[in-house]
Amino acid sequence: MTQQKIDIAQQIDKLINLQAVDSVIYKLRAEKNQKPRQIQEFKNQIEQEQKVFEETKSSVKALQLKRKEKEIELETKETNIKKLNTQLYQLKTNKEYNAMQLEIAALKADCSVLEEDILKFMDEIEKTESSFKDKQKQLDSGKQEIDSQINKIENEIKSIESELSAQEEKRSYLAGDIDSNILSNYNRILKGQDGLAVVSVVDHACGGCFMHLPPQVINEIRLKNDIIYCQMCSRILYDKRADQ
Ligand SMILES: [Zn+2]
Repeated sequence: MTQQKIDIAQQIDKLINLQAVDSVIYKLRAEKNQKPRQIQEFKNQIEQEQKVFEETKSSVKALQLKRKEKEIELETKETNIKKLNTQLYQLKTNKEYNAMQLEIAALKADCSVLEEDILKFMDEIEKTESSFKDKQKQLDSGKQEIDSQINKIENEIKSIESELSAQEEKRSYLAGDIDSNILSNYNRILKGQDGLAVVSVVDHACGGCFMHLPPQVINEIRLKNDIIYCQMCSRILYDKRADQ
């Protein structure tokens, strides 16, 4: 019964204004929603680099451990040689003497193999350590870069949020001036149609879903006696040309 008191043309104008603000709000929300994923991508990147770094670090440790083992083995054999050398002159027979000399020679051969191994390990450790240091530098500068990127994104989120709250304030001001039934229809369509509830007629078709509109419907839209909804996508239709 209050339907007749409502100026539909005016309501449509208000809906168009509201839609303009809502479009901005939807765009800002979509932008904001993308940000955490961007931050996560940066975090994954640095995690991957950290992992490579830790791997190099532990391979240096493993090499150092192997070197230490060889050094202990070498030390044991050298102690053994010294011991045998002192025993050598206490031996009674030539046979015993020769046997022990063979034993010493074998130990000495083992020692020189061990010394070579140790040198190889030292060489490898040196190389790995230098690449380790390079990786550390890379990691440090990478972390700095990513921290500043994340910082930048966090600032972008803040500025989107403040823009959003300004737009939301504007929205509630505009919405307060619209008939409550019309507004609740609008809100329902807005939600269901991904932020686009009011569309203009484009080339005799709905500007939202592009369904062709019969001349009868276009006439009704131009008359503005009622709010006309698209039969396909249920969006609210208006005709730009009707305003001219
Ligand atoms: Zn449509």
